[in-house]
Amino acid sequence: MSRKLIIPAGLAIFGILAVVSGLTGGIEKLFIKPEPSKVIIRSKVPAGATFISFMTGQGFSTGTASEILAAAKPVYDFATIIAGREAIFQYDHTGAIFEKLIYKIDTERQLTIWVATSSPDGANLTAQVLEAEEGLVSPPSHAYRQAGLPAAVGWLVEVADIPYEVKISEASGTIETSLYETMVGSGFDQRLALAVAEVFAWQVDFAADIRSGDSFKVIHEDRYLDGEYAMPGRILAAQFINDGETFNGYLFEGPNTKIGYYDEKGKSLQKIFLKSPLQYKYISSGYTGARLNPITKKVSPHRGIDYVANTGTPAVSVGDGTVTQAGWNGYYGLSVTVRHNDTYTTRYGHFSALPKGIRKGAHVKQGQVVGYVGSTGLSTGPHLHYEMHKFGSYVNPFKVEVPPTEDINEQDRSLLEALTASFTL
Ligand SMILES: [Zn+2]
Repeated sequence: MSRKLIIPAGLAIFGILAVVSGLTGGIEKLFIKPEPSKVIIRSKVPAGATFISFMTGQGFSTGTASEILAAAKPVYDFATIIAGREAIFQYDHTGAIFEKLIYKIDTERQLTIWVATSSPDGANLTAQVLEAEEGLVSPPSHAYRQAGLPAAVGWLVEVADIPYEVKISEASGTIETSLYETMVGSGFDQRLALAVAEVFAWQVDFAADIRSGDSFKVIHEDRYLDGEYAMPGRILAAQFINDGETFNGYLFEGPNTKIGYYDEKGKSLQKIFLKSPLQYKYISSGYTGARLNPITKKVSPHRGIDYVANTGTPAVSVGDGTVTQAGWNGYYGLSVTVRHNDTYTTRYGHFSALPKGIRKGAHVKQGQVVGYVGSTGLSTGPHLHYEMHKFGSYVNPFKVEVPPTEDINEQDRSLLEALTASFTL
């Protein structure tokens, strides 16, 4: 969504503090009138709320809420308001006059709705705006005054990037139990732990293969909003040492190379198969709200890999492909088989349930949930049975040399070298 409408910046300025009127002439005071502080109310959308019920809960009349809903509709439909999202209401210094509403659409974008009033010199701002951006401002209404609003003549709406301030930060540590517990226990954001696991999801089975003594180092962005920490941003460079093997990843985009994580040699970290059908984000404490359950993995007696995991844990397709089987399947119980290309097929068994849309002929993306762990078929307890076939014969998925997706373009090599040299991992 692009920026649709911009309120002239000058309108937000209540006073000019001082103006320097020349190098030798000293300071000429024009006038001093500090901007009165605003009343800011932050509110989270409650579960089950509609936009109207949320707004009336904030003291707006149903009529005013309906008008904001209609005014926003060309750029954002509040019918899709999401529980838990934050909305910020700004009032004047008395707290009586509503000025604007900011709604966080997602982690990247926000919607701002201003009350449009006449500008101080008497010119009608809304009329000017209407000329420029026809149709975005709703017609005037008596409802504003009922709600204690200024003599408003309309609403201005805009969708824009959330103006985070970004700082570069570093995190490192040695794992005792799990990546998640080590990072959270050291005071790092749990979302950063999940992001690290996602960078190396093609190299390391974070669900089952983390060893005591594994270590990590991450150079990443932190995002701040209004001076307060909001969330981790992008991981710029990271290292993970798993069972003595070192993996490095650098976020790189070149004129001829698509954005992604590459090692120092220019090999893409993204491969056609994920290392594990159990993804860290679905098993870590951050996702379940419960303490991390260790996932155990062993070679199955019936040729495959068995992951012991809780019933209901989502399992994902390790690669893009087409579902060739979905449903009851002998001793596999409720199972799903995915054909990835002419060479490789993977199968996932003993599910308790399949997600909607997972049926024969369906296309699945790498990382897409294809079933939920269960104990159907020939199974003694909840576990995921995972198999890989190459030209129809069973292979150990952890011994297969998995081809990477596209490596960097040779023309971009010097750019990658400059980037990797700027980080110390
Ligand atoms: Zn099995």
